[in-house]
Amino acid sequence: MSASDERTAVHRHFWRPAGDTIRHAFRGRRWEHEERATSVCGRDVALGAATEYDWIVAPTCPVCYRILKDEC
Ligand SMILES: [Zn+2]
Repeated sequence: MSASDERTAVHRHFWRPAGDTIRHAFRGRRWEHEERATSVCGRDVALGAATEYDWIVAPTCPVCYRILKDEC
């Protein structure tokens, strides 16, 4: 396993459309059906069953994206 593989394992995350209609990144392996979660960018947002439409229209959070990118 290379060093970069190990970092990926530590900083595991997933993306999900949240209640503020933005797709944030969250720490963890996957969504565990929590009703609320704190995103990587530090926002406490509602998480529900996202529809396919939510995935299409929700823009990616630029703050989450930058934080995760800086960790790589
Ligand atoms: Zn975010």
